[in-house]
Amino acid sequence: MADFKDSLIFPAGERFDNENFSGEVWLKMLTGMPCPVANVTFAPACRNNWHTHRGGQILLVTAGRGYYQEWGKDARELRAGDVVEIPAEVKHWHGAAPDSWFSHIAMEIHPELGPATWLEPVSDEVYGKLK
Ligand code: MN
Repeated sequence: MADFKDSLIFPAGERFDNENFSGEVWLKMLTGMPCPVANVTFAPACRNNWHTHRGGQILLVTAGRGYYQEWGKDARELRAGDVVEIPAEVKHWHGAAPDSWFSHIAMEIHPELGPATWLEPVSDEVYGKLK
């Protein structure tokens, strides 16, 4: 839906074809090293695989409705204005709700430690419980 992407505070960027995301996602790098900040926009039902960040990550939700979930915990619903502080090496995923677009700013903590470690997709059993 072009209207959602055009309504964002920061540009949505280009379609991001990546095997670690299910569904359609758009990515715009807003800054580079040493403090890379990205605008990430998910189509409804799109989410990333389970993954970890070596130094952690901060998410600033700007639009839509989505979820953040840590391994072994309940998913947390996210809306514009929500902040997520993801500790280093904690297994998690983030993405859109089944029926809503979703956009967040993603900030890597200590990116010099290296890239994220990508793991398995979020199962339909896990994602299917979310509204
Ligand atoms: Mn993450």
